[in-house]
Amino acid sequence: MTAVEFIEPIAPADGVARAKALFAATYGTEPHGVWAAPGRVNLIGEHTDYNAGLCLPIALPHRTYIALAPREDTTVRVVSDIAPDRIAQADLDGLQARGVDGWSAYPTGVAWALREAGYDTVKGFDAAFVSCVPLGSGLSSSAAMTCSTALALDDVYGLGYGATDAGRVTLINAAITSENDMAGASTGGLDQNASMRCSAGHAIRLDCRPGLSAVDSVSPQEFDLDKYGLELLVVDTQAPHQLNDGQYAKRRATCEAAAATLGVDNLRVIADQVAAADDPAAALADVLARLDDETSVRRVRHVITEIERVDRFVAAFADGDIATAGDLFNASHDSLRDDYEVTVPELDVAVDTARANGAYGARMTGGGFGGSIIALVDKGRGREVAQLIADEFERRGFHAPRALAAVAAPSASREA
Ligand code: ADP
Ligand code: MG
Repeated sequence: MTAVEFIEPIAPADGVARAKALFAATYGTEPHGVWAAPGRVNLIGEHTDYNAGLCLPIALPHRTYIALAPREDTTVRVVSDIAPDRIAQADLDGLQARGVDGWSAYPTGVAWALREAGYDTVKGFDAAFVSCVPLGSGLSSSAAMTCSTALALDDVYGLGYGATDAGRVTLINAAITSENDMAGASTGGLDQNASMRCSAGHAIRLDCRPGLSAVDSVSPQEFDLDKYGLELLVVDTQAPHQLNDGQYAKRRATCEAAAATLGVDNLRVIADQVAAADDPAAALADVLARLDDETSVRRVRHVITEIERVDRFVAAFADGDIATAGDLFNASHDSLRDDYEVTVPELDVAVDTARANGAYGARMTGGGFGGSIIALVDKGRGREVAQLIADEFERRGFHAPRALAAVAAPSASREA
């Protein structure tokens, strides 16, 4: 059997040096600085962000580095170490939504979104990206890219939002707009908040209700795996992950239609009503009975129960009740598999293998339809469990998975 690959984070000094070198090799000049933003792992609370619900991400030590220099004109030029010989170019002047194709839509869209939001001092830029966040694996390489870009532009164009948590919300909004309106990915906000607002040793409990102040939307939660002798194993199944093919948007539309049928702005309103009822299970059954098709019933049941699991996980983990925390991981995955129908065989097999080999709990993380799983295992057992999953994949003829060890790492920052 083949040894499973572990993806190590790039050391910051190395990330800076490599981004600078790629910039210099591409444009023949020096960048104004280097910034970085992390990928993320969502611990629990999946497909809840766009339903105004709760989620619980940590930032990964795996980061995307951007070396950037501002330009006098409105031209954007970007290069990435995934294809270091290819410069993508666009002009912000007259640019329309969906006006850029390919990966460069993500960074170009950030500058475009800032300008659309009225920050017209923002002009073009040259940038070079170096990343160790796996692409398209449900670990949010896209937010690592848009958030690092937003922080760099904030800095070089003197917007002044990057220095505070509250200010970062403006940059997060530009990053979300870029993904939604330029790249065409209907992401809800979890990824960008995680990348911009997490801190070392902590997850954030993110409340996605619209209109909340920055302070009310995020509360840091200690997430110290060492304290409990644990490891958080991430396995990237390498099954193709396609959020742009309409499935994600379809789930989102079903939720919005169900909220309209139930006469509320979003499903969070229902989740709060159910949680406050004397008999929450009966209240949920009553809500579901008001929906006219079986698909909506299952989608709504996932969203309502998943929102509720977030605070139960927070409480269990804070109490050191790892058995309950693990059970909640399992319940989340089963709901995503059976009710939300966003898993694929690779995700289910990886989760089942982790559970059968001593994980306290395991679940898919991210949007689904491919991507990664997380498993809570005893410290020192991550490699062994990852290898068992890789062996099972080999037996089944799946693509070889990759793994990484997740710890709660800091958010986006200027690096040089
Ligand atoms: P995820 O965010 O989970 O990694 P997405 O499908 O949302 O998956 O985003 C992945 C896409 O983001 C890639 O296909 C690519 O277009 C773009 N991307 C992210 N990081 C990079 C990078 N370092 N270089 C080039 N493109 C990137
Ligand atoms: Mg993404």
